[in-house]
Amino acid sequence: MTEKNQTTMKAAVLTAPGSFTLQDVPVPSIAYDEVLIKVAFCGICSTDKMIFDGLVSVEHIPFIPGHEFVGTVAAVGSRVTRISIGSAVAVDINISCGVCRNCRNGEPLKCTEIQQIGIHRDGGFAEYAAVSEKNVFPIGTGVISGKDLIKYALVEPISNVVRAQKRTGSLLAKRTAVIGDDAMALFHLQVARVQGAVPIVLIATNTVIGKFGKQMGADTVVVIDEWTAGSEKLHQYLGYFDVVVQTSSRVSTFDMGVMLTGPGGMLLAAGFPEAGSEIRFDPVELVLNEKKIVSAVAGVGSDVSDAITLIQSNRLNLDPFISEVVSLSDVEVELKMGRPGSETLKVLVDLNQ
Ligand SMILES: [Zn+2]
Ligand SMILES: [Zn+2]
Repeated sequence: MTEKNQTTMKAAVLTAPGSFTLQDVPVPSIAYDEVLIKVAFCGICSTDKMIFDGLVSVEHIPFIPGHEFVGTVAAVGSRVTRISIGSAVAVDINISCGVCRNCRNGEPLKCTEIQQIGIHRDGGFAEYAAVSEKNVFPIGTGVISGKDLIKYALVEPISNVVRAQKRTGSLLAKRTAVIGDDAMALFHLQVARVQGAVPIVLIATNTVIGKFGKQMGADTVVVIDEWTAGSEKLHQYLGYFDVVVQTSSRVSTFDMGVMLTGPGGMLLAAGFPEAGSEIRFDPVELVLNEKKIVSAVAGVGSDVSDAITLIQSNRLNLDPFISEVVSLSDVEVELKMGRPGSETLKVLVDLNQ
């Protein structure tokens, strides 16, 4: 049950590209196989910014974005058996059909009918969200409510990192470079460290990211003036890497990534470039040295439970990602203005604020 049998809830509703309004909307009704989550925290991410700017089109408007949320179960559908009211839960945002060729090949993320909560279906910038039981992951005992939940709002982005690094294979004793200026670069750095990557070099243009990179265990941090500044020089200075993780959306970092990937090595393309942009690199680099490029876009299934395990392990330094908390009414200004020049790595919406 919702609190006091509430029938309406507050939500940050995208009413047109570039415009959010805080509205009272009906609490979503749940199907027999769904649970109603009382959202505690929902992270704001670059995908939300792309949705806000109209660069990623959502299924319908008005629409409630928000795909990085955590909360407690307020109600369950008649056939829900695995999840009980009051459980703290995180969410796999990917809803796949289960029967198309890709689903049957064990690749639900490539489902021809894929829908993502907060991108295609209403998400977590609201007091409540309806999610299929299948997509709900209990966080485990000992985590009850309130502030204890906040770091689990990072499950979605960390599950993305988990999936990406599963695609690189073991990083044990692998020379690893991470290229990027965002929270994802710092998550990659930390998960690579848990995997045993040595040494780990972070390449950034943002001095704040460089500073956090050092704190979070990078063996070397290189802060360059701009992304186009001489890959060749970087290569001379740093040598080759077995794995290069590229989280930047800037296309010039692909070129840099290919250049820094050693013979037989792998470039992991994990940044989300602007649609229609073109990358340039010398194909001889790929063919002659048998370099590989793999990509990854989101965490799914066991990546989500693995992200929860990593967060529970306390081996990741997550405090700097959960320090900036705003209320639902601040979502629009956060997406419009961002926080240029600040030390903020991540902004989280507190739905109880
Ligand atoms: Zn995200
Ligand atoms: Zn499918």
